[in-house]
Amino acid sequence: MKIMVSACLAGENCKYNGGNNRNEKVLQLIEENEVITVCPEQMGGLPTPRVPSEIRDGVVTAKDGRNVDAEFRAGAAKCLEIAMREKPDLIVLQSRSPSCGVKQRYDGTFSGTLVDGAGVTAQLLMENGFRCTDVEDL
Ligand code: SF4
Repeated sequence: MKIMVSACLAGENCKYNGGNNRNEKVLQLIEENEVITVCPEQMGGLPTPRVPSEIRDGVVTAKDGRNVDAEFRAGAAKCLEIAMREKPDLIVLQSRSPSCGVKQRYDGTFSGTLVDGAGVTAQLLMENGFRCTDVEDL
């Protein structure tokens, strides 16, 4: 099986705070399958570490108030390009991220409040017919 995964789940230090979300189930998938890792936020040109962002009224906004929507959407478009080329059977993404979250994301107030809805990359991939799952649902 060919699987695309959020790079931070594979242990890459691409998270906003310079850390990762290393996940044992994902590491096992990597051992048993062909795996492609992507980090849409880095691919959109954002540095690591970076200011955390949330989606506020449909616009990805950094905690310091900057509009980072273009970078997030550029990264999502690059992930879609890779998915179109590689045709993964499954895409496993980090839960609740403004890029990678599949079922839920934070509401844009930076208060830890969750709302239903996907991050921009997960949304774009699903709109194009790719099967995406939050890592927590693996
Ligand atoms: S954008 Fe996705 S892959 Fe990159 S650090 Fe955030 S959750 Fe992980």
